[in-house]
Amino acid sequence: MAKNDSRNKGFSTRIINEKFKRKDAHGAIAMPIYRNAAFEFPDSESIANAFQYKEEIASHTYTRITNPTVENLEHKIQAASGAENVMMVASGMAAISNTFLSLAYAGSNIVTSPHLFGNTFSLFKFTLAAFGVEVRFVNTDDLEEIASAIDENTCAFFCELITNPHLEIADLPEISKILKARNVPMIVDTTVIPWCAFDPRKAGVDIEVVSTTKYISGGATTIGGAILDYGTFDWAHNKRLKTVSKTATMSQFSFKLKREIARNIGAAMDPETASLQALGMETLQLRYEKMSSSAYQLAQFLSDQKEIVKVGYPKLESSKYKSISDNLFYGNPGAMLTFSLESREACYKFMDKLQIIRRATNLFDNKTLIIHPESTIYGTFSPEMKTVMGIEPNLMRLSVGLEDVSDLQGDIEQALAILG
Ligand SMILES: *Cc1c(COP(=O)(O)O)cnc(C)c1O
Repeated sequence: MAKNDSRNKGFSTRIINEKFKRKDAHGAIAMPIYRNAAFEFPDSESIANAFQYKEEIASHTYTRITNPTVENLEHKIQAASGAENVMMVASGMAAISNTFLSLAYAGSNIVTSPHLFGNTFSLFKFTLAAFGVEVRFVNTDDLEEIASAIDENTCAFFCELITNPHLEIADLPEISKILKARNVPMIVDTTVIPWCAFDPRKAGVDIEVVSTTKYISGGATTIGGAILDYGTFDWAHNKRLKTVSKTATMSQFSFKLKREIARNIGAAMDPETASLQALGMETLQLRYEKMSSSAYQLAQFLSDQKEIVKVGYPKLESSKYKSISDNLFYGNPGAMLTFSLESREACYKFMDKLQIIRRATNLFDNKTLIIHPESTIYGTFSPEMKTVMGIEPNLMRLSVGLEDVSDLQGDIEQALAILG
């Protein structure tokens, strides 16, 4: 396990200097890619010990269960976040589904915002509903509404750190007080802000889920997900997990997840992916700082343009969430912003004129990406569902990359001219 006491070193140092669990036979300075499926043992007793967890340093047996390259990435994330347990999986959605398959049960309910990543919305509303799990949508700005939605079968409160594309930010420290008084775990999708700008433990997060496809991967090389357990929740309050074993380093939740659910679901992270994402992590802070500062510059620039109806960025004075954002993200709320033109047609015209900014989904690539959420990400949702989810037809989402900000500004300027 990574040492949480290494947190007195800087963020990037902790990630770059995280040591391998076993010394590499050749002294490789980067963790090699172990892309094999199985691991061999010298005798029957040692393979039995490995399967029964009797060794001091657990051995790997089979890559769907654990793998040295994947484990190395887990340790880097542990060093960055201070979590007690980290598990990598095949995608952000695998992180979310494995988490809820570990703690929800027929008759339980999830209290959450209706403003969710599209597949998360669909997972809660349709997939889990078929197994008797209810989703209760609340306005996360309304603490009383959250409190009154909770009952003895609430298995979790869930939200996204900054909702997308609405850019709402739940006041997690305040919500945490309500949840603690009612013994409900707080589960947060923190994909949009990495640990160099957000401390989940201070905000009261018990379980964190992340799409590592975004900031972590570094250049959008691969799809991946992470589940982080801070060891802060007493699972005796969960009807399904209260009888599960725990160990000195694993809560009932992590035990259930690692020893049963994730193996049965089988959405294991590929070792090649883990290798690329571990390399990506080394430049995470550097990329985040540059992307955030460009995003703020562009948000200010966009606010001054006459064709633009509205700009969403939590650091702008116009944002309702500025003070929560300043508090949670140290005034550095990342690289995602939104802006609205007069109409959907104006958005299409503008987007078709862009030359540097790419028309693509995804977030936090090195490249700047733009998308029109209503016609793409939410394109197959019914008009009623779009209304529930609050998806507006004149809104675009920008993910600011690492290009020179003056070039990005110039590209936007020349594309706006077509609306003039
Ligand atoms: C992208 C994303 C996901 C899903 O992640 P995948 O890696 O694509 O499965 C979940 N939540 C948020 C907030 C995301 O941006």
